[in-house]
Amino acid sequence: MSSIKTVNPATGKVDKEFDVMSDGQVEELVTKADQAFRTWKKTPFGQRAQLLHMVANILRERKSELARLFTTEMGKLPAEGELEIDVCAAIFDYYAMNGEDILADRQIHTDTGSAFITYEPIGVILSVQPWNFPFYQITRSAAPIIMGGNTILLKHASNVPQAAETMEQIFKTAGTPEGVYTNLFIPGEKASELVADPRIKGVSLTGSEPAGSSIASMAGKYIKRSTLELGGSDPFIVMPDADLDAAVKTACMGRLWNAGQVCISPKRIIVTEDKAEEFTAKAKALFEKIKVGDPLDPATQLGPLSSEKALQGVLEQVAKAVDQGAKLVLGGKRIDGPGAFMQPTIITGVEQGTDAYKEEIFGPVLVIYSVKDMEEAVRLANDTDFGLGGTVFGTDVKEAVKIARQIETGMIYINHVTSLAPQFPFGGVKHSGYGREHAEYGILEFMNPKLIRVTTPDAAY
Ligand code: NAP
Repeated sequence: MSSIKTVNPATGKVDKEFDVMSDGQVEELVTKADQAFRTWKKTPFGQRAQLLHMVANILRERKSELARLFTTEMGKLPAEGELEIDVCAAIFDYYAMNGEDILADRQIHTDTGSAFITYEPIGVILSVQPWNFPFYQITRSAAPIIMGGNTILLKHASNVPQAAETMEQIFKTAGTPEGVYTNLFIPGEKASELVADPRIKGVSLTGSEPAGSSIASMAGKYIKRSTLELGGSDPFIVMPDADLDAAVKTACMGRLWNAGQVCISPKRIIVTEDKAEEFTAKAKALFEKIKVGDPLDPATQLGPLSSEKALQGVLEQVAKAVDQGAKLVLGGKRIDGPGAFMQPTIITGVEQGTDAYKEEIFGPVLVIYSVKDMEEAVRLANDTDFGLGGTVFGTDVKEAVKIARQIETGMIYINHVTSLAPQFPFGGVKHSGYGREHAEYGILEFMNPKLIRVTTPDAAY
């Protein structure tokens, strides 16, 4: 790869190009991040917090302009981009306000002398992020890393270089010392190689399973801390007592959020046999009315996928599902024109053992499964390698919570598809990864919880 490009997915045109950094440039930036760590780790919490608040304020001030950049760079609707910015600002503020308390020394009870845990930053953290939430993905990694006193090297996805560059500029404008937040324009494979550098003490990746596996094997080989936030194929279980119209609306609109390119998205709808036909008919009626088109038109409900490559991938998955026996209820085709637009799509009759049953579909595709009862619903929900999120939709919340407890994922939402907040831990199990972002978990991932044990010399032996 010689250059990193923004290709507007609504037009197919190259908007801007950036040079890939040379090994020498990367070396220089790693050195600066390592040097910056020595000072940053000693910088008082108050000063770190001030910086994060400043970043949050800049984000709020520039919200509409930044949201528009996301639209032209990866296709999301401006309203979705604006909400993303609000969440980012809230995360920066959350760590600014709570970081010091979370990282305060923790006393441990002991019968003799005393003991406590002190949290120390560990050094330069490499963060590798995907394009689907161009700023949120950076934020949930960068805010806790920087508040904790670590420094960060941020390698963003190669299709969102303007977002990557803009975030670095925002940090600079906020007064970030050189080396504390650094953008790297390098391809994915280079990021894996970089894990071997002894100055890099930890790595965090959000993305696909192959990328996660590559980073984690390097982290294993070189004995580094790591966290992985990978894909998901979230179940959306419709309980027998659910208000069907509300369930259809929540599932369908949730699935179309960000053109279906969300890790926690209702990718597998699970409905009992007696309601499946009605659910499918209502979902079809809703999807048929969706306005697909120019993401900058305020009336548009579904914009393009992030790239032509992403579109081709989803079209192939749908075609293969149909080849393997699934029923195409709606859509399944690209929309003619230069952009990466796809019809809202519904599939039913996906059988165990087929590709669509196992894979994550990262696009505007609703897969509806019909089951006998809630027991079978839970079995089907758990019959996947993924374990990220999921939804239980129903009126009896106690019953819904009982079902939620049986689902093997990191997060379950009752009557909702995503309920993001800085204080809610985010992450998965199984092939969806390990580690957590947000809340106290997010900041503790890259801290050293160091024990200091105090005894009198005569009591020591
Ligand atoms: P991807 O190809 O894995 O890309 C993600 C990031 O990893 C990019 O920065 C990419 O760089 C980099 N990368 C690619 N190959 C790599 C390698 N061998 N070593 C190190 N880094 C590498 O992911 P994607 O398909 O674009 O993104 C969508 C996936 O992310 C979906 O599966 C989605 O569910 C998942 N996701 C998960 C979460 C979560 O929180 N669990 C959130 C959002 C998205 P280049 O762009 O340069 O290749």
